[in-house]
Amino acid sequence: MNDVATNILEVSDLCVDYASTTSFGVTGAPSVRAVKGISLTLQRGETLSLVGESGCGKSTTGRCILYLQDPTAGTVTFRGQRIDPANAAEMRERRKQLQIIFQDPNSSLNPRMTAGQTIEEALAFHKIVPKSERSNRVRELLETVGLDDRFRNRFANEDSGGQRQRIGIARALAVDPQIIVADEAVSALDVSVQAQILQLLARLREEKGLAYLFISHQLGVVRSISDTVAVMYLGKIVEQAPTERIFERPLHPYTQALMAAAPIANPRARRERIILTGDPPSPVNPPSGCRFRTRCRYATERCAAEEPLLREIEPGHLAACHYAGEVGLGPADRRPE
Ligand code: SF4
Repeated sequence: MNDVATNILEVSDLCVDYASTTSFGVTGAPSVRAVKGISLTLQRGETLSLVGESGCGKSTTGRCILYLQDPTAGTVTFRGQRIDPANAAEMRERRKQLQIIFQDPNSSLNPRMTAGQTIEEALAFHKIVPKSERSNRVRELLETVGLDDRFRNRFANEDSGGQRQRIGIARALAVDPQIIVADEAVSALDVSVQAQILQLLARLREEKGLAYLFISHQLGVVRSISDTVAVMYLGKIVEQAPTERIFERPLHPYTQALMAAAPIANPRARRERIILTGDPPSPVNPPSGCRFRTRCRYATERCAAEEPLLREIEPGHLAACHYAGEVGLGPADRRPE
């Protein structure tokens, strides 16, 4: 991680509600709280990963940070400042500093534009360099992401998935951002190409001090790239810690189950098998008390009655479980009476 530890992003008590409809398309059904009370910070040069099952609210959180979606409550501040979404100039400036890399480079690149036109469009829209310098800048950006100048004249369908993702990264870099939200950015790629893109992202972080919000369900990838990991379940952060600590010693039963289900590199390594049964409950009607209790093997009456707060169990290690850290590995070692 970069030495300069400066908070550039602060998210405080973020909530997002969606108005839901019935299966007949009738509105007025109870609203869905997709994100409930998320708070996090991101420092310059830091990679923070948001992990969790599909539908847990991690992409919605990313969209709010990018100002692509208005939160129902809570604040997002960038370099200490909130912005007024009604102020077009401020929004334009902020969007320049916060960029996104999508999961599917096919759908995020215009098939009618060459790579050069795609990157040049970003340079022109944000008035990054004079028109006379744009061509040189495109060449530099292609070089930065490991592509030679021949790629500028190629259309997306002529490139491989990894090459398309590199062009997507070059387009994001064109506006000189400070934060990149990478939403499942390597999930669609082969393992060897994934490794190349992850190395590229790590190099850019070192060279440019970029910060990443890395949204992923791939725990192996998350472990290789992150400084900090936040685990989300049903719209809330249930555990957050420095990467190695959360992988070595997960304290929340949900994190323990996720880790137990992830593939491990060392076939001789032994790990307790934890089966996570059932699907996550509907966010329209989440369980009382702890949201994870309907799937938690350690749930007690207290868990149904009282919602656990996200609290610091060990320095820098937060978990939202009544019993986190009580014994050994936490609830995994605990046997409720
Ligand atoms: Fe399980 Fe209870 Fe902890 Fe929730 S609070 S994770 S139900 S032990």
